[in-house]
Amino acid sequence: MPERENMAEIKKLGVIGAGQMGNGIAQVAAVSGLDVVMTDISQEAVDRGLSTIKRSLDKLVQKEQLSADLREAALSRIATALSIDAVADCDLVVEAASENLALKLSIFAQLDAACAPGAILATNTSSISITRIAAATKRPEQVIGMHFMNPVPLMKLVEIIRGLATDDATYEATRAMAVQMGKTCVLAQDHPGFLVNRVLMPYINEAAYTLMEGIGSVQDIDEAMKLGTNVPMGPLTLADFIGLDTCLAIMEVLNDGLGDTKYRPCPLLRKYVDAGWLGRKSGRGFYNYNKT
Ligand code: NAD
Repeated sequence: MPERENMAEIKKLGVIGAGQMGNGIAQVAAVSGLDVVMTDISQEAVDRGLSTIKRSLDKLVQKEQLSADLREAALSRIATALSIDAVADCDLVVEAASENLALKLSIFAQLDAACAPGAILATNTSSISITRIAAATKRPEQVIGMHFMNPVPLMKLVEIIRGLATDDATYEATRAMAVQMGKTCVLAQDHPGFLVNRVLMPYINEAAYTLMEGIGSVQDIDEAMKLGTNVPMGPLTLADFIGLDTCLAIMEVLNDGLGDTKYRPCPLLRKYVDAGWLGRKSGRGFYNYNKT
């Protein structure tokens, strides 16, 4: 493969998936001056994503964190589409579709066929191996993990993950775009859980064990960690925000990928997921959100 010249600046961004993460990424990119094409599989999903962006920008204008002119300019930079082919002329594409290996492999094979040879293909996956996703393409050196945090407009961090083959030009261009979007980057190697979830999920899992073993109440575990370690919310509140099904799925990835018994998912966490207690999104998790 011929050596690529240093990646030119990223000017046009494709976003695959208009859900929670995809619409947040599209919003922040458009506000930072990038042209954006956001795709999903149904018009309804695209419309929902776009109205979330509008609501979020309205809030920023109300709070005087964004001018009305900038809101209009950002919205005018976002195009939407239902086909992957619509991102063919993008310099970088971030895939933020549902967390499913087969789906991501198929999307990356399609992106590889549709996009220009120099384009970078990034994934926002929370737990799937970047190296594995890259192998679905003929350009593994231009595939990279770009793990935004939720909610994207508020959270400063982007964890950048290099796959086994990711080259320096891809890393530098991706990092520069994240910085342009106002984010701070950390670099992680491609290993189960990367960096954030490798540290965070065992912490949440251990909090679930302390609850299961009766060491403390839900409230006391959260209060202890909140005031004791000066974080904005305790681990059980945070787990309810993330979704207990997501926490369990990531613990399974750590357990399967690293094989050390210290990563075994807490049985109480599994029980809650079995019961449909998934956290805020289902109305009940470690806390009950349906109480009046
Ligand atoms: P979500 O369910 O809100 O959105 C996913 C979207 O992808 C849906 O709108 C769905 O219709 C769309 N989609 C499915 N198949 C598609 C296809 N073939 N082409 C285009 N769109 C398709 O999910 P989310 O929370 O936004 O998560 C997206 C990704 O981001 C996942 O990989 C997830 O692991 C990762 N992530 C999530 C969080 C979080 O806190 N939610 C944080 C970091 C990373």
